[in-house]
Amino acid sequence: MRMSKTFGKTLREVPAEADTINHQLLLRAGMIHQVAAGVYSYLPLAWRVLKKIENIIRDEMNKAGGQELMMPVLQPLELWQETGRDLAFGKGLFTLSDRRDRKLALGPTHEEVITEMVSHNVQSYRDLPLLLYQIQTKFRDEPRPRAGLMRVREFTMKDLYSFDTDEEGLNQSYNQMLQAYQNIYSRCGLPALLVEADSGAIGGKDSHEFMVIAESGEDEVIYCPGCQYTANTDKAQSIKNKIEDGEPLPLEEVPTPGAATIEQLSDFLKVSQNRTLKAVFYIADEELIFVVIRGDLEVNEVKLKNILHCFELRLATETEVIGAGIVAGAASPVGISGIKVIADDSITSGANFVAGANKPDTHFRNANYPRDFRADLVVDIARARAGEGCPKCSSKLSSTHGIEVGHVFKLGTFISEKLGASFTDANGVSHPIVMGSYGIGLGRLLAAAIEQSHDDKGIIWPMPIAPYHIYLCPLYQESSRVSEVAESLYVELEAEGLEVLFDDRKESPGVKFNDADLLGIPIRVTVSPRTLKKDSVEIKRRSEKEPELVPLEGITERLKELVRQGLSRLPNSV
Ligand SMILES: [Zn+2]
Repeated sequence: MRMSKTFGKTLREVPAEADTINHQLLLRAGMIHQVAAGVYSYLPLAWRVLKKIENIIRDEMNKAGGQELMMPVLQPLELWQETGRDLAFGKGLFTLSDRRDRKLALGPTHEEVITEMVSHNVQSYRDLPLLLYQIQTKFRDEPRPRAGLMRVREFTMKDLYSFDTDEEGLNQSYNQMLQAYQNIYSRCGLPALLVEADSGAIGGKDSHEFMVIAESGEDEVIYCPGCQYTANTDKAQSIKNKIEDGEPLPLEEVPTPGAATIEQLSDFLKVSQNRTLKAVFYIADEELIFVVIRGDLEVNEVKLKNILHCFELRLATETEVIGAGIVAGAASPVGISGIKVIADDSITSGANFVAGANKPDTHFRNANYPRDFRADLVVDIARARAGEGCPKCSSKLSSTHGIEVGHVFKLGTFISEKLGASFTDANGVSHPIVMGSYGIGLGRLLAAAIEQSHDDKGIIWPMPIAPYHIYLCPLYQESSRVSEVAESLYVELEAEGLEVLFDDRKESPGVKFNDADLLGIPIRVTVSPRTLKKDSVEIKRRSEKEPELVPLEGITERLKELVRQGLSRLPNSV
């Protein structure tokens, strides 16, 4: 492709609206264009990357026994109401009405549609197992679309669904998919880590995510250097740091003027934060919930939501808290009634905590559970942190940042039961089909590749998903020899099946080199009067600092070999 004809312009300046690396570089490289919040067009260079990712995914799905099909974006809302997942997705589900006032949804995922279809096509155990997939557009009404292609409202996803006769079959399908996913990331040049995850609105039992490790990743991953335990923070468990028990002392009211936060309180009373009790208020489907947790810990809202079995969970506003007769800043579990109290199990170790007294500027010293207050439920609702104990082997946990690039679920039978998808076994007895669901967002994978592999000059594409293999860069084309050599090299390389972006623009060397670095094509080939004096061209790999002078003779073979190496080299494992 000739650069002079490529649709899309590179930008020198970082666009103001872009706050993440992938967003900045994709805009600067002229690869995406924002249409609305969280809605993007892909320009030709980005589209080539997406197509390569798509081909790798399709190939691995087919190898694993998947059958590709295509389902509609428009789905009857009734199907969602039958499984109850319209409520689980809540406002994230885009809904609309047609001209006859029938309610429809734009699919954020396709479990309902595919299960309804499978129920008409599977009768007997002989029809199973099945692995069915599509690569298609999805919609989710994100509350805060941001971070370029990370959090968008319309995106392309590969979604595969497995249908088995029993748990054992599901485990086999699940493991097959885990392997296929590892192959996909590896072939894309993006090593990914398998982590335990929460199943969220999708539902089901076991769930795993694949994470690409990147500084800028918005997900925190907790892992144990001692064993293989790895989980995202929504799901991660830990052994909390214990604090010493003591003899319970009598409850004592103390004035604490102006000390409303845990930090202020701990400074004012000269007690460490882990000797205080923090009160946090939530609204769970309209109900006010009082959460008590040790002052040094944070509430994990995903764990809390799972325990409450609610559809919507949010922090209560100050007005809602005051409306319930609670003194904000000095809220107390002591003497509370008429409100559901959920306590983190951290409050059961240690004694003599500082807690609110439910009077302005007043707290209690020596609050002890269960002597001074009760909770409706005492469970683990804390965010696990690095430095705490591994739940499997008690070694110290560590943490890192990652970007989710795939999510798989063991759904079990809750959807097939609700939609009547069943099969008869060899004895003629009917059972619900056992399901799994497996998704990869293509744009997210592209964005993750950039977040993981870039420098201050631009993108550094892994060869397998790079928009082109070679950036052919003639300098000072007014020299007819440069122009001739570059033109004939371009034709020859393309004829050999190499993908070449030919920078035939009449621009200065500085502009061309900057664009080459920004676009991140793996191999730059420079032809200039200086290199031709030695009958050579200059080859520079994007991932390396120094260029290399290479004789023109045999150059095509040399470049073919470099591209071949780049395509076959698997990334180091993580
Ligand atoms: Zn461990």
